[in-house]
Amino acid sequence: MKLFDLTGKTAIITGANTGLGQAICVAYAEAGANIVGVARRDCEETKALVEKVGGKFAEVRADLSSTSVINSIIEGAVNAFGSADILVNNAGMILRCDAIDVTEEDWMKVINVNENVVFFLSQAFAKYNILNKRPAKIINICSMLSYQGGIRVPAYTASKSAILGLTRALCNEWAQYGINVNGIAPGYMETNNTKQIQEDKDRYEAILERIPQARWGKPEDLMGAAIFLASDASNYVNGFTIAVDGGWLAR
Ligand code: NAP
Repeated sequence: MKLFDLTGKTAIITGANTGLGQAICVAYAEAGANIVGVARRDCEETKALVEKVGGKFAEVRADLSSTSVINSIIEGAVNAFGSADILVNNAGMILRCDAIDVTEEDWMKVINVNENVVFFLSQAFAKYNILNKRPAKIINICSMLSYQGGIRVPAYTASKSAILGLTRALCNEWAQYGINVNGIAPGYMETNNTKQIQEDKDRYEAILERIPQARWGKPEDLMGAAIFLASDASNYVNGFTIAVDGGWLAR
């Protein structure tokens, strides 16, 4: 399975302390990568899980609500492991509110983390790899709301639709440097992000009923696609977003 081997690669994963980001850290460590976990709180649990599968973990503490932290992330990776080969833009936030009541402040909170930092961190990562003439992989964590409108989450939908487009736009410019930019669009996964709708029994059941595979997703469900898009197995896949949704979009 050499095609999927990540030995010697350095993978930066934002939002590494929990949920999908944590599962991706463990998956990459199992595939042999050194892990740089970016989070605004401690990543002790993720570090322990990575070390349990024989991986190395370095933490970069950063609040991704502002672009001011971006250089420290690339520097943190290079200082820890000597390179920055894989970037997973996973950190994201959601605010639920009727569109008619959304304030500009709340709108910007979501757009800053989910869209602005995704772009400028990708840019810094690409600059580093272009300068050093190294091939690299960027993986943007998109959403079903990269394709659909959603309910009461307009800023989230706008940002997740934006980063699907950005995935294509960056592929067009950076493929020439050996940088692949792809996305993963998770379906409904049981994490903090969906806590409120999981607790709303009617909503939980209504979603469940529409999923062809008849279950909500778990963070581990993302591991295969995440490894694929980070590895040589996907070297000719570029600008595309893979849905990992139990069939939701097929319905
Ligand atoms: P989660 O448990 O809420 O994880 C979100 C991660 O982003 C957390 O690590 C969170 O840190 C981090 N984050 C948010 N704002 C941040 C900030 N200002 N600075 C640093 N880190 C910040 O939910 P998840 O489901 O694993 O979400 C991961 C990604 O998947 C998100 O982009 C989400 O939109 C996307 N997604 C999730 C689903 C789903 O059904 N769960 C579906 C589609 C897409 P804290 O723990 O400190 O808040």
